[in-house]
Amino acid sequence: MAITANEEDDHPNTPTTALLPFNTDSSSALSNRKPATITLIFISLLLSTCIALAAALSFAFLFFRAAASIPTREVARPLGKLKSPVVLLISMDGFRFGYQFKTETPNIHRLIKSGTEAELGLIPVFPSLTFPNHYSIVTGLYPAYHGIVNNFFIDPATGDFFTMASHEPKWWLGEPLWETLSNRGLKASTYFWPGSEVKKGSWDCPNEYCMIYNGSVTFEDRVDSVLRFFDLSSSEIPSFMTLYFEDPDHQGHKFGPDDPRITEAITRVDSMIGRLISGLEERGVFEDVSIILVGDHGMVGTCDKKLIYLDDLEIPKPWIQSYSPLLAIRPPSDHPPKEVVARMNELLKSGSVVNGEYLRVYLKEELPRRLHYAASDRIPPIIGLVEEGFKVEQTRLKRQECGGSHGYDNAVFSMRSVFIAHGPQFGRGRKVPSFENVQIYNLVTSILNIDGAPNNGTESFPLSILLPRH
Ligand SMILES: [Zn+2]
Repeated sequence: MAITANEEDDHPNTPTTALLPFNTDSSSALSNRKPATITLIFISLLLSTCIALAAALSFAFLFFRAAASIPTREVARPLGKLKSPVVLLISMDGFRFGYQFKTETPNIHRLIKSGTEAELGLIPVFPSLTFPNHYSIVTGLYPAYHGIVNNFFIDPATGDFFTMASHEPKWWLGEPLWETLSNRGLKASTYFWPGSEVKKGSWDCPNEYCMIYNGSVTFEDRVDSVLRFFDLSSSEIPSFMTLYFEDPDHQGHKFGPDDPRITEAITRVDSMIGRLISGLEERGVFEDVSIILVGDHGMVGTCDKKLIYLDDLEIPKPWIQSYSPLLAIRPPSDHPPKEVVARMNELLKSGSVVNGEYLRVYLKEELPRRLHYAASDRIPPIIGLVEEGFKVEQTRLKRQECGGSHGYDNAVFSMRSVFIAHGPQFGRGRKVPSFENVQIYNLVTSILNIDGAPNNGTESFPLSILLPRH
């Protein structure tokens, strides 16, 4: 540096080559014409060369860019350590779409960034309740076809009452994924998924692989139990596993979706996903496992000023099978359902019923077809659809509670949950349009490369989500 500076100091009037094109010193050019001509020729040559080089470089750039775009088509990545595909299906109960942006969720976002996400969330089936939806996810069937039409209901043929603790196989129709795998000679494990304790076909809820529901088991224990499966020899690792967290549904019901306690619950669930990812990484299988992270439904805030009373609609309590948000009515045989529906809608439209405009009553066969909620005797003949955030009760009570609820029309955006998937067959950072959760069954059987049972999902759906194999 010092030498160059000295040389320039020694010849202050000698322009450097780099400065020539910008030299506007006309007096020096006039006083020395011959060197100026040479300089001009030199400049012309230099400019021509530059233009030619720029053109050549542009063509080369375009050519290589076009060539480079061919191999960027993403294809399924080969398994590293695992011998065969493993799907881990995780449910965060009541994880409404958008909760992932309520606070920092670094672990969920890690899966989103390097995986595939339903851009505007996962659409639940109607009614957007826990049991019907969890069982739709694993059977690919709408509730009318898998039989779990509500969290509680009566079988009109027998008068038997279904509750969330009913494990007799007669209630649970269709073929859940664990049964499909068992039928194909593959291992499955379940950690608290509705219906998984039911012994059906070749699935007998085996001891080591089927956990009996116990809400007091810590989330950490659940994650660690799933991780331990990856310590088994490759032939013993289940090809399909489930994992279930009750949160943030629990807090959503109690406090509504916009409470700080929801935010805390999201942070906690996210940390469980982090614990899972770390455990899989320690075992060298994180990139091999297909993780499908979903919720069963969303959540909306409710308050007691948004109520509709059945007393105002002349409907007695014994007719009601469920109130809210799914109003299900089975009138006695001397009251034809059609007449009851007509009378209720007449009252609702009359303006005499408080909040009447927010309830619409249907014969189940006349419900919008997109709800797929008619083809089962277990569904009572009269169904009421309440607007988002409203509740139906029998009688006026002097209380003013606020909280949260779900079960509404599945077209209501607040009922949506998330679909986030990560693994060898999922594109990185890919967004896909929203879809109904009955599509997940076919997605899982496609990843595992097995034939599934007939269901309400679309056969070609997995092609739109999964990466091509070659
Ligand atoms: Zn739920």
